[in-house]
Amino acid sequence: MSTITTKAFVMNSFPWKERHRLLHLLTPELGLITALAPASERLRSEIRAATQLFSLSEFVLTVKQSRYSVRSASVIESFIAIAENLDRLTAASHAAEVFTDVARHDEPNRALFELWAYCLYEISVSDYPVFVARMATLRLMVEIGLTPCLDSCVRCHGHVDEPYRFSFLEGGLLCGKEEFRKTQAEWTTLFPGTLALLRHIASAPYKRLFRFYASEETRSEASAFADRWLEERMEKRYNRLELLEHNPTFLFS
Ligand SMILES: [Zn+2]
Repeated sequence: MSTITTKAFVMNSFPWKERHRLLHLLTPELGLITALAPASERLRSEIRAATQLFSLSEFVLTVKQSRYSVRSASVIESFIAIAENLDRLTAASHAAEVFTDVARHDEPNRALFELWAYCLYEISVSDYPVFVARMATLRLMVEIGLTPCLDSCVRCHGHVDEPYRFSFLEGGLLCGKEEFRKTQAEWTTLFPGTLALLRHIASAPYKRLFRFYASEETRSEASAFADRWLEERMEKRYNRLELLEHNPTFLFS
C-alpha cells in the first residue's frame, strides 16, 4: 500500500455499500480516478466539504492494487456559487458529464484538468453559465482532436467567404466553389460573428477563452453548433440542459 497526494476536482459522488461514498476525481497527473471515501464518522465530518460535488480539494489517497481510498482531504476552492444556482448547477453537471466521458477514455491529460478548472470557475461567476459550459465542451472536443475545420474549406482547403456554410457531415466549412458542384452536401449557414466566436473558442489560450463579447443571436447559434458538434462526434445524447430548458422543477423533485 502506498500513499499519494494530489489535487482533484470532484466530478461525481454517489453512495456505495450502505455508508460509504464513491467519488469520481479528476486529477492533473492520474486523469479520472474512482476513490472510496470511507464512512468513518471522524473522516466523514473532516472531509465532507472537501468531497462536495465540484469542489477542488487536496486529497491524500491510499493506493492498494490500483484502488484508491481517501485518507484525508482539504478544500482548496468549493465553488459554492454553483450549488446555490440552478443554471450554474445544471451547466456544471452537463460539462462534468462530457469531461468525465472524455477523461474515462483518454490518457491522463493535464490540459483537460486545466480546461475544467477554467470552465468551472467561469460557470461559477458568469452571467451565462450554460453558454460557458457549451463553449467549454466545444473546446474539449478540439483538445481531443475532434476539431471542426473553421479556417478554410474542408474539401479543398481554399479560402472561405460569406455566406459561411458549415457541413456537420464533413466537419468543416465549404467554400463558394463547392456550392456549384451540385453535391449532396447538407450545410448550416453561420453568421460571421458566430464563426469568429467559434474560432476564438477553438484556439484562444485558456486564460482568455471566456473573455469575449457575444450578442444573444451569436450565443444562440454558437450553442446550437456546440451541442450538435458534441453529440455527433461523441455519438451520445447529452440531455441535462434540456431539463433546464423544458422543466426546471424536475430537478428539485
Ligand atoms: Zn473548397
